[in-house]
Amino acid sequence: TVVLAVESSCDETAASVCRDGKILSNVIATQKVHEQYGGVVPELASRAHLQNIVPVVDQAMADAKIQSSDIDAIAFTQAPGLIGALLVGAQFARSMALALDKPVIAVHHMQAHVLANLIESPVPSFPFLCLTVSGGHTQIVRCESPYSMKVIGETIDDAAGEAFDKTAKLLGLPYPGGPLIDRYAATGNPAAYRFPEPQIPGLDFSFSGLKTAILYFLQEKKQQDPDFVEKNLPDICASIQNRIVTILMNKLVKAAQETGITEVCLAGGVSANSGLRNALAENGKKFGWNTHYPAMEYCTDNAAMIAITAYYKYLQGDFATLETTPTAKSDW
Ligand code: ATP
Ligand code: MG
Ligand code: FE
Repeated sequence: TVVLAVESSCDETAASVCRDGKILSNVIATQKVHEQYGGVVPELASRAHLQNIVPVVDQAMADAKIQSSDIDAIAFTQAPGLIGALLVGAQFARSMALALDKPVIAVHHMQAHVLANLIESPVPSFPFLCLTVSGGHTQIVRCESPYSMKVIGETIDDAAGEAFDKTAKLLGLPYPGGPLIDRYAATGNPAAYRFPEPQIPGLDFSFSGLKTAILYFLQEKKQQDPDFVEKNLPDICASIQNRIVTILMNKLVKAAQETGITEVCLAGGVSANSGLRNALAENGKKFGWNTHYPAMEYCTDNAAMIAITAYYKYLQGDFATLETTPTAKSDW
């Protein structure tokens, strides 16, 4: 079974081919146009997707050494995301499906982030918990099977990726600042500064208070010394990262204790964070978890995760129709 998948929910135009659950190609065109604006500009994203989608799909098919006659189904990201961006991928997939007379498969982007853990062995066994930490979402998902998963905790305000990016912006770092905080944190002292941990009930998260606390902290320090940030960047970054990671891990530990599940995964772009990966390994040792996270190229937005999810849907005969439209909101 050969599935071609496209992903266009935000600012990467991506395509991937998988055969029987094995990823044959994974092509990603990251849009550079947004850098100068310090965030993704929806209208510009849609236009860039229109320009990129045909060459990206061509490349994915060439890398996989397949022709359009080999394709059994075409998958696209249905939700959530920027509606204009999603429409480009959906329209492309439905048109190609119509032309080839093949079925379309609609994939939920956040479910695909979770199932990216099934791309490479050793895969987690079911049921597993997945902490999905990305630019727009922070969720703890209980995954019973590729077809059954449930959000058991999520952020009530900013996502973890936003917490990284917004605090990086306060430090004068370019967008997206998450990877830069990670890099500076490597040589800093995580205990140099103490930022507050929010007290949120249950398995939910909050990051907006942390951002405000850091804003006031920096204002005060800069009054004493205008060069405070420049002089202490590694320590500041390490302390911010440490707090974001402890907020995430404390809830993940709680979820594991409450559910009794010991297969624990990460997903989403923030799972690239070295502090988070180290914390997962430490807690895994402490609590006897089997831990997993996807290879880097499958953590940030990509179409391979759409392809693997679509492959499982194909096995169930879970097809969309040519009328299936994308939606911006993230209801499962
Ligand atoms: P969503 O899936 O919620 O719609 P998204 O797909 O745009 O959002 P991803 O591509 O999964 O998000 O992740 C992007 C985020 O990951 C950005 O916020 C970025 O700063 C963050 N990120 C990437 N690498 C790191 C890192 N090493 N440390 C911290 N954050 C990182
Ligand atoms: Mg992105
Ligand atoms: Fe994503």
